Amino acid sequence: MTAGVANVQGPARQPGSAAGPGLPLPRWRGLLEAQWQARLREVTELALAYHDTAERAPGGPGRDAAPQLRRLMQRAVAARRALADTEEALRRVSAGRYGQCEQCSAAIPPGRLTLTPEARYCPRCAPDPGGQVTPGPGGIPAGRRPR
Ligand SMILES: [Zn+2]
Repeated sequence: MTAGVANVQGPARQPGSAAGPGLPLPRWRGLLEAQWQARLREVTELALAYHDTAERAPGGPGRDAAPQLRRLMQRAVAARRALADTEEALRRVSAGRYGQCEQCSAAIPPGRLTLTPEARYCPRCAPDPGGQVTPGPGGIPAGRRPR
């Protein structure tokens, strides 16, 4: 059952426990479920805001409200994508593949999973886990810290 993965500079690796993420799977599942709920709420709120803005626009949508609607739509699309990513990650938990790179099957470092629980690739296959995290000075991703 061990995935025979070369250790990627993890000094605090516990022998005996299955190769994979540093936290037990139920912890990741709980974290992902919480994230899924938050994102679902975000999608809902953005959809409501969109319709609200469209309705309140004088003369209907398309003129004054257009830029705002476009922004809301972009955010809604991004939120839906994030929701789908989280769903995918939950599916990987169920399938027992969570924490494995989809490209090369290497273990994704727990640090990356902590920052981006829905990460699908190891740092070698995708330097940018979420597709939008910009590493700040010192390599710390800006803006997306775990709470
Ligand atoms: Zn990889």
